[in-house]
Amino acid sequence: MKEILVLLGPPASGKGTQSELISKNLSYLPISTGDLLRKEIDKGGELGKEIAAAIDKGNLVPDDLMFDILLKKIRNTDSKGFIFDGFPRTLEQAKMLSDFLEKSDEFVLKKVIVIELDKETIIDRIANRITCGNCGAVYNSSTKKPKVSGECDICHSKNLIDRKDDLDIVAINRRIDIFRANVSDIVSFYEKKSLIFLINGLKDVNAVNLEIMEALSN
Ligand code: AMP
Repeated sequence: MKEILVLLGPPASGKGTQSELISKNLSYLPISTGDLLRKEIDKGGELGKEIAAAIDKGNLVPDDLMFDILLKKIRNTDSKGFIFDGFPRTLEQAKMLSDFLEKSDEFVLKKVIVIELDKETIIDRIANRITCGNCGAVYNSSTKKPKVSGECDICHSKNLIDRKDDLDIVAINRRIDIFRANVSDIVSFYEKKSLIFLINGLKDVNAVNLEIMEALSN
């Protein structure tokens, strides 16, 4: 069975960084649903425009559409496991995934890791966030600069950008509000399945990773 790990957390809580670190340990493929959607936008077309309109305002894209894109990705990718960074974001998405997994003899959900972070820190991290427009790697202009200024450590692209939705305070607040409005329902849903592991996102990156790896080995 291919294992799925879910990483839940508000924007800039370190989901992307932690999924890369978990991936190094377990060789599971990290899948950022935000990155999947930005790739759809890059393809152009009507679907891309619809997605861009939602993202730019800080809104979620429709659950069905999101789930279709994600399913296509995991079905067409050969990996022994997957790390979902940014999915599910609604209770409906959690239920869609659950229904799918119940019928699947190929995929199983192993753990749902919830990274907790206060609003002040979220806004501060978003203000300093730099993203690679090519591979999606994330940097912080004060705490995690790229090794060579202006160049991505991973893919060496020079296309380091501020995400459009990271520059608009209305969109930022909306993303945080939407996360808060949905997270408790999602956590309750997975608590009933004994899958939840909570972690304090204020801790140092490596400490967070160590705790996650310990939780995964239990
Ligand atoms: P992220 O890169 O995770 O910050 O996601 C960027 C944006 O993509 C979000 O603000 C949403 O507009 C959209 N998005 C990402 N994941 C989902 C999801 N699971 N459901 C709906 N919209 C999503």
